[in-house]
Amino acid sequence: MSFIVNQNDRLTVTVEDLTHDGSGVAKVEGYPLFIPGALPGEEVEIKVGKTLKNYGFAQLLEVKQQAPNRVEAPCHVFWECGGCQLQHLSYEAQLQQKQKQVRDVIDRIAKLPHVPVHSVKGMQDPWRYRNKSQIPFSERNGHVVSGFFKTRTHHIVDTDVCIIQSEEADELMSTLKHEMHALGLDAYEEKAHRGMLRHLIVRKGRATGEIMVVLVTLKKKFPQKQAVVDLIKRVVPEVTSIMQNINPDKTNVIFGNETINLDGKSVIIDKIGDVQFEISARSFYQVNPVQTEVLYGQALEYAQLSGDETVIDAYCGIGTISLFLGQQAKEVYGVEIVPQAIEDAKRNAELNGITNAYFEAGAAEEVIPSWYAEGKQFDVLVVDPPRKGCDEKLLTTILKYKPKRVVYVSCNPGTLARDLRILEDGGYRTQEIQPVDMFPQSSHVECVAWLDL
Ligand code: SAH
Repeated sequence: MSFIVNQNDRLTVTVEDLTHDGSGVAKVEGYPLFIPGALPGEEVEIKVGKTLKNYGFAQLLEVKQQAPNRVEAPCHVFWECGGCQLQHLSYEAQLQQKQKQVRDVIDRIAKLPHVPVHSVKGMQDPWRYRNKSQIPFSERNGHVVSGFFKTRTHHIVDTDVCIIQSEEADELMSTLKHEMHALGLDAYEEKAHRGMLRHLIVRKGRATGEIMVVLVTLKKKFPQKQAVVDLIKRVVPEVTSIMQNINPDKTNVIFGNETINLDGKSVIIDKIGDVQFEISARSFYQVNPVQTEVLYGQALEYAQLSGDETVIDAYCGIGTISLFLGQQAKEVYGVEIVPQAIEDAKRNAELNGITNAYFEAGAAEEVIPSWYAEGKQFDVLVVDPPRKGCDEKLLTTILKYKPKRVVYVSCNPGTLARDLRILEDGGYRTQEIQPVDMFPQSSHVECVAWLDL
């Protein structure tokens, strides 16, 4: 539907930009084409694919002039697997790219060109950082395959190695795959809804080294159970917990309702800073513990607590930020919509002997106004919303009650920028923004913004 370029045209273009999901962008007479795999500064030969009114897509045929920061993607399935988007860009350039991405939306959407966006805090070693792997298993032509889904599909890209997950997860994934048929255990086939092993989940406590393995199976009973437990313990003796989750349904949701213990403990422990967290098979926990400490450290720095403040932690999950801040505040009030997460938060407070943190289950935009209505006063409000950003009603509440400081932790720069504009219009001033790289090799970036009245 474009008159400038047509499907199947072969062109040579210069790439100008990179989208937030890692595609190169080139313009032909102002008409943008998205080219996965191409990098800014490159001259590339492309074949035009689908074209829409305002933009189109193209396939990269050849890189004629390489960007100086292009690198060989170290993972052998990078170009098929949907897990990472930026392995072909040097790590330093990834960080610059993410800073630019934040800068752009802060200028364009928040209209705050004078607010400093600092350089992204990255990792020393941006590999093998994930503490949790959820690995689908299936049968293909008489063999077991396991790995990760191709973007937006249910096709498993078969691999024995994933260099952003732990070595133990690699070991378990590949050994199970290659040895399970010999034990008489088969993998789940989605279409036919048969076969036993659906997913392998591996979680590791970075600070403690404790490892949990969860086998998600179609049925509760299977004759090879003990043999699989023995195999897991032989391959990775550091495993401290083996769990089974039963998911009998024809669904692509990973977990079923029932979880049972097969061997060892039912939880593992990890630490962020000095705070311990208990992690069970299904509990939510940040996946990059090294950078989580950097992220929360930044939130704590921007909160500027002296010990006398009462703080709100909105969208608190299992209370990770609350318990981190609680050490330096008078009181912390956490609110989160998932009741199970609030149970975890309370247990974690107890585990650490933290007595100045209070948690309530409910929507932040409902619960926070009710706290104010009871006459409570708050000095600092920390928010860490999901990708869609803060609920409008929560922003209205902030502008109504005006805590003197807001620390906004965000996993989506676009909605952060939108919300900053609303808070600015209501009288807040954004002081600084610090991006943190929680997901090296992917195109995601987290930010912490500091606002004062
Ligand atoms: N701060 C936590 C979790 C952040 S993820 C951490 O760092 O680990 C965002 C959380 O917001 C999720 O746990 C999600 O369940 C919760 N959430 C989503 N909508 C919400 C709402 N309207 N009110 C309160 N919590 C909400």
